[in-house]
Amino acid sequence: MFLQEPLEKYLYLNKKQKFVLQKAGFNKVEDLLRHFPNDYKKFVSLKKIRELKPDEEARIGAKILSSKLKRSWKKRIPVVEFLVQDESGILRITWFNQPYLAKTLKQGEFYYFTGKIYRDKSGSLMINPVWALSADRQEKEIEEISNEEKFYPVYPEIYGLSSRWIAEKIKKLLLEIKDIDLPEILPKFILQKYHLPDFKTSVFAAHQPKNPKHFEAVKKRFSFEEIFLLQLSRLKEKISRKKLPAFEMKISRKEINSFIKFFDFELTNAQKKAVKTLLDDLKKPESMTRLLEGDVGSGKTAVAIIISYAALKSGYQIAYMAPTEVLARQIYEEFIKFLKPFRAKIGLLTSSQSRKYPSKAFPNKDTQISKNQLLKWVLGGEIPVLIGTHSLTYEKVKFNKLGLVIIDEQHRFGIKQRGLLAKKTSKELPSIPHLLSMTATPIPRTLALTIYGDLDLTLLDEMPPGRKKIKTIIVPPEQRERAYEMMREEIKNGRQAYVVCPRIEQKSQIAKRKAQSAKFEEKLHQEPEEEIKAVKSEYKRLSEKIFPELKLGILHGRLLPKEKEEVIKKFKKGEIQILTSTSVIEVGINIPNATMILIEGAERFGLAQLHQLRGRVLRSVYQPYCFIFTEHSSQKILARLNALTKSQNGFELAEYDLKFRGPGELTGAKQWGISDIGMLGLKNLKMVEAARTEAEELLREDFELKNYPLLKETISKLSRSPVHLE
Ligand code: ADP
Ligand code: MG
Repeated sequence: MFLQEPLEKYLYLNKKQKFVLQKAGFNKVEDLLRHFPNDYKKFVSLKKIRELKPDEEARIGAKILSSKLKRSWKKRIPVVEFLVQDESGILRITWFNQPYLAKTLKQGEFYYFTGKIYRDKSGSLMINPVWALSADRQEKEIEEISNEEKFYPVYPEIYGLSSRWIAEKIKKLLLEIKDIDLPEILPKFILQKYHLPDFKTSVFAAHQPKNPKHFEAVKKRFSFEEIFLLQLSRLKEKISRKKLPAFEMKISRKEINSFIKFFDFELTNAQKKAVKTLLDDLKKPESMTRLLEGDVGSGKTAVAIIISYAALKSGYQIAYMAPTEVLARQIYEEFIKFLKPFRAKIGLLTSSQSRKYPSKAFPNKDTQISKNQLLKWVLGGEIPVLIGTHSLTYEKVKFNKLGLVIIDEQHRFGIKQRGLLAKKTSKELPSIPHLLSMTATPIPRTLALTIYGDLDLTLLDEMPPGRKKIKTIIVPPEQRERAYEMMREEIKNGRQAYVVCPRIEQKSQIAKRKAQSAKFEEKLHQEPEEEIKAVKSEYKRLSEKIFPELKLGILHGRLLPKEKEEVIKKFKKGEIQILTSTSVIEVGINIPNATMILIEGAERFGLAQLHQLRGRVLRSVYQPYCFIFTEHSSQKILARLNALTKSQNGFELAEYDLKFRGPGELTGAKQWGISDIGMLGLKNLKMVEAARTEAEELLREDFELKNYPLLKETISKLSRSPVHLE
């Protein structure tokens, strides 16, 4: 099949080009054909030679009369000089340093030349123009064709491969497919029902549109396709998972209630409802796959602990994975606090590489044990609760009877890491563990239907009582001092504060495509060098110049685990009053006495992320403040940031981000492996719902997709693991 053949079969690629393409995930013909232009540029309009004026950028269509190769008089560089002619006159064109053109451009043939007009003592000439071939065309056709070619596609570069290079290669591929039929992955009835053009038509419309709007009209097809395929695969996974046996956990409501009595607060109604739903899930013969979504500070941990207790009481092990060490430690402490009366052993496993840093297992919390010992106990079942970072997914970690997997801040994990945990239970057990995923990232409905199409959703849409609304203020540069004053005041009153320094975004295309590999995912969570630099210098500035009388601390991802723990401890105890930090504090850190957060370079964060960050100070009964700094004064950026001051609702903000900032920048988007075009579709709820309906319908009629072999094959590549826990 042509589309599946390697690119090299049709394109001449040198070693470097081959390497780059491969690295960026372009292997087959189809891959490159699906690399769409992100813009179309207009050619300069076609002129007659007689109309040309000096200093003007112009385009002409002309026949070559003669060529001459010489060397420039001073520098001895090669110069080719052509005389070209159209019906209005004759023009000189010269190129420096491109002697091969003397052979490439043929006498008597027609070309387009686009470039600037100069004047020298012998008259007008064009220097180093861009040329385009119209080799086999007749002179009279030039005007007609030029209408078609008035604009050209501009492609996103692929690591140094220029748009022009890409354009040429794609042109070549299009020539190859011009006269053959291409396979169509979407069922015909769907194309008809939604008036979508077929694949081949759409590919041509993308790369050689009749006009710049043309592609817009068919983009829908590619968005639909991508979303439909994703939904189909997620739904299929969901249905097949429901067929697998699960660990049934029956635990009396009474027992749970008496456990909840130990809490030093009353559950909110939303928490109660969520607990009930989850407990019901655990009783079912199919395994739970639930996403618990609740704004920062809504109390997800308490729900997780209650469910863990139920699993524990039913005799199963629990794995709790958090995205950062700092958070894992905090969760560990919280589990200890609540499960203390039951003397359950709780293990903490973090940084996998460091031997210096032993693991911990409560009740021997302070007698640190070796990692090997910890893993032995986990394997033997002596430690029923294991809390950790992504190191939980490593090969060596094995459980005896893993019945419940909890993933905190799930959007911070890659797809693979989530799936890996599910397979950790003993091989003799035919069931798969229950999964509770948690996130504070509000997920627009279109995403919930697509990316999380295989998960059941529960919302924690209520905050614990007594929480104040965060006052969010965008601080203009000249009022920086005032913000610092307010901070000083707040700290005098006994509160604490965060100062967050910006993240330098990683935005390479390759990063997106490579996001599948586990190693890479780890890297995604590491902070770039610049970010560390920024936080270090800010820490220095603040502690020496602004707040010399206060106690400041610094936190970032490159500190040793021990150091991080120390910093958090000190902050918790109030020994640090202002914590300067990178966005590591974004997730989950819970220090109720901190009531003020100042965010530098806010334009670098997504709204959802900023909302998460300010959630750090929404943990108590004090009035919380969020100060937002940005060096940018562009209206667009300010408008976006302004949304934060108006809305306290993560959902609204996420929708806003999706609409205005571009979906690729939504938190976690990197890991979904969705293309820009697919993302575009996610802005369209109607389309997403239609795709969902069609996917459901199709699976109902033909679950194995027997009638759609191409669809079946593609879907099987999309689904990631037989356990498909995500
Ligand atoms: P998140 O949902 O962001 O993970 P946490 O679980 O960390 O939020 O909870 C935030 C804070 O709220 C914690 O200090 C927790 O003890 C507290 N909390 C949770 N539930 C309640 C409740 N029902 N009433 C009062 N405080 C609560
Ligand atoms: Mg949390």
